[in-house]
Amino acid sequence: MADITMQNPIVEMDGDEMTRVLWAWIKEDLLHPFVELKSEYYDLSLAHREASRDQVTLDAGKAILRHQVGVKCATITPNAQRKEEYRLTRLWNSPNATIRSLLDGTVFREPILAGCIKSAVRSWVKPITIARHAYGDIYKGVEYRVPGAGTGTLVFTDTQGKTWQKRIADFEGPGILQGIHNKDPSIAAFAHACFRYALDKQQDLWFATKDTISKHYDHTFKEIFQETFEKGYAEAFKVAGIAYRYTLIDDAMARAIRSPGGFVWACKNYDGDILSDMVSSAFGSLGMMRSMLVSPGGHYEYEAAHGTVSRHYYRHLQGEETSTNPVATIFAWTGALRKRGELDRTGPLVCFARALERACLEVIEAGTMTGDLSGLCEGIAPVVLSSRDFIRAVRLRLEGLLAAGAVESGRGETQAGVLPRKKPPQRQQESPHTLP
Ligand code: NAP
Ligand code: MG
Repeated sequence: MADITMQNPIVEMDGDEMTRVLWAWIKEDLLHPFVELKSEYYDLSLAHREASRDQVTLDAGKAILRHQVGVKCATITPNAQRKEEYRLTRLWNSPNATIRSLLDGTVFREPILAGCIKSAVRSWVKPITIARHAYGDIYKGVEYRVPGAGTGTLVFTDTQGKTWQKRIADFEGPGILQGIHNKDPSIAAFAHACFRYALDKQQDLWFATKDTISKHYDHTFKEIFQETFEKGYAEAFKVAGIAYRYTLIDDAMARAIRSPGGFVWACKNYDGDILSDMVSSAFGSLGMMRSMLVSPGGHYEYEAAHGTVSRHYYRHLQGEETSTNPVATIFAWTGALRKRGELDRTGPLVCFARALERACLEVIEAGTMTGDLSGLCEGIAPVVLSSRDFIRAVRLRLEGLLAAGAVESGRGETQAGVLPRKKPPQRQQESPHTLP
């Protein structure tokens, strides 16, 4: 029955724990029966990263540079406890950080809205996309545990050997030091990606940092964004009737909470890390968010924004059925397959990806869902399914959609690639979502 073909492969990066279990079920029930899957497989499980001395992560990142599109399962970023649990020889880097620093670029994270799930923030009726810079700052930081009294100094040596230095702090006893950096071309690429994405979505772009305190570091981000906007995008924004607005991060937080949503929020690396979790949880669940990395060179990596869901995995290992939400992982696959289809002009693959997304949302809106969503439902009495049963329900729905011609006709498509949904109830707009 697998009659949808692919011209070129995508890079498939398998991962850890509960998400690895979901990965296999998704492939078995939702992909292999319908698509002749062409993927170049990399096993990024912690055990295999250890066995390959993390070479597999570098190889996977380089494969994305070759094939342009990748899909990644959540992976463990080891800490001291994991080092013991997996008998690691080293605390290997976060695979996401390794891949992101190879590709550079921006991670766009957008909540997946189902009509029956009500947002925890009453005014949010439209999705907020978090655009997270994927390079540098603390994710490329150098740290030092100061053992005792002394002086910490910041030193820069130029290519001629000339140095600049400044005292950071005098230590009377133990303390901590951290060196972080970013690079102008990476910030500029981040700015371009955000302006292009906002134009594509026809939504306002917000950008916020703490430049009042960080007078060189954050100020440089602000300046590069402003220059990029004025030189390349101001006119197009005017024509599109959308705005670029810069403000302080604390002000942006306060305004975002009172807004109706419906904008793109550009965030520095760490801000984007935490705000995307906050935004996805507020809109429903960590299991209901798409995440896409776009590199300046036109490479795309899709993943779920949540982790490996260890707590559920330990229960799964005890033989318990868990109700872990597979939607974000399914949408990572649909994102990658759709992009592959768009790049290769393979219409049926694009339509299949959309039909699968639509099947997921229709199953939820019919009242059958995983446990994380059941408490957030409005207007229906939800039935909680195990992960496997939820995936089976999606498969049934998908078969129905495909039999009704969703692939051939491309039904269910919209401009933004999001399927038409029953809109969440419109609430009164409580305050304008504008920034100063
Ligand atoms: P997590 O895996 O995101 O899970 C935290 C909690 O959020 C879960 O215990 C669960 O809550 C809920 N949750 C997350 N995803 C869910 C889903 N799909 N369906 C239902 N509930 C969901 O974060 P963590 O436990 O802090 O991290 C576990 C491992 O993941 C760590 O080793 C970390 O390094 C790794 N991690 C990887 C990535 C990545 O690869 N992208 C990102 C973050 C973390 P309840 O237990 O209350 O049900
Ligand atoms: Mg995070």
